[in-house]
Amino acid sequence: MDQAILDVVASSAYVLGPKVKEMEAAFAEYVGVKHCIACASGTDALLLALKAWGVKEGDAVFVPSFTFFASAEVVALQGATPVFVDVDPDTFNMDVRDLIYKIEHTAKAGQLNPKAVIAVDLFGLPADFKLISEVAKRYGLHLLEDAAQGFGGRIGNQKAGTFGDIAATSFFPAKPVGCYGDGGAVFTDNDEWAALMDSYHLHGKGSDRYDNIRIGLNSRLDSIQAAVLLVKLKAFKEHELEEVNRVAERYTEKLKNVVKTPDIPKGFYSSWAQYTIQVPNKETRAKLQEALKAKDVPTAIYYPIPMHRQTAFNYLDPKMNQCPVADRLADTVLSLPIHPYLTEADQDLICDTIIAQF
Ligand SMILES: *Cc1c(COP(=O)(O)O)cnc(C)c1O
Repeated sequence: MDQAILDVVASSAYVLGPKVKEMEAAFAEYVGVKHCIACASGTDALLLALKAWGVKEGDAVFVPSFTFFASAEVVALQGATPVFVDVDPDTFNMDVRDLIYKIEHTAKAGQLNPKAVIAVDLFGLPADFKLISEVAKRYGLHLLEDAAQGFGGRIGNQKAGTFGDIAATSFFPAKPVGCYGDGGAVFTDNDEWAALMDSYHLHGKGSDRYDNIRIGLNSRLDSIQAAVLLVKLKAFKEHELEEVNRVAERYTEKLKNVVKTPDIPKGFYSSWAQYTIQVPNKETRAKLQEALKAKDVPTAIYYPIPMHRQTAFNYLDPKMNQCPVADRLADTVLSLPIHPYLTEADQDLICDTIIAQF
């Protein structure tokens, strides 16, 4: 890793450059898509997809309520309106029945034009794309996979990053494959959208960078991050993804009779961006967090406020955006430490501390 970084420093190609091209090719090959375009963050990656589709004021975009703010923020940045969809209490991912209900409800209300679905691979588990892509097709909607947490996940042999018409990922350090700063990428097989996103991420460039044919962004990946990502991808492929799955299996084995452990549907494979348990209520969760903190074990609540309750979205019609499962999860979820290098001794300490509370 040190050598990879020093090589970039010596090359003096700090932004974009050959390392970024190499990284894009390696990530496209791993995921199994034609185009990977690296950019400055996962948020920008989502935004680039919406820009390629011309999502604008008057459009409705369907987003799960139980996610990180960026999934919905980009919709509003484009001037469009997010419509929040509830999630499945077992997988934390978009509830397809509620998706259909929200699409039909929006169409019937007649004020917004249903345009796209953003399905999130929450905590590393791919969303139910077999059903979601059927629904998107049936209603003529674009499908964007928010794979910010999903990189490395699979359904059967198909990898996250391939499930939508476009997919976006993040390389923020806490994600399954993280760099040493901010970074992101979009993936697609569609040549036309790839060309548009390539333009939008470099100030709307045309035939060259001083020929600007649309309003875009400055959203480049720097070469040091690309070099870091190439080393990280190798370790991820060779052992990290398998090891983090071993850690998750061990947690589930030890905790499944004590708390509600994450449910991985048959044929699905998670990259475990988070290992999130559910407890009966807020009070139990607070006690559990205290007990773990006393043993120097950090925990986190992903997410304490669902999107339909965020202050920034208080202009939306609450009747159109009800998500009771997301409301309940916000009070009952707790994410435990997880990474490929978590030792069995640390895991035992965490599990024993939790078990002792029940
Ligand atoms: C992290 C994250 C993003 C945004 O990625 P950044 O690189 O932090 O901009 C978007 N969606 C989800 C679900 C995320 O977890």
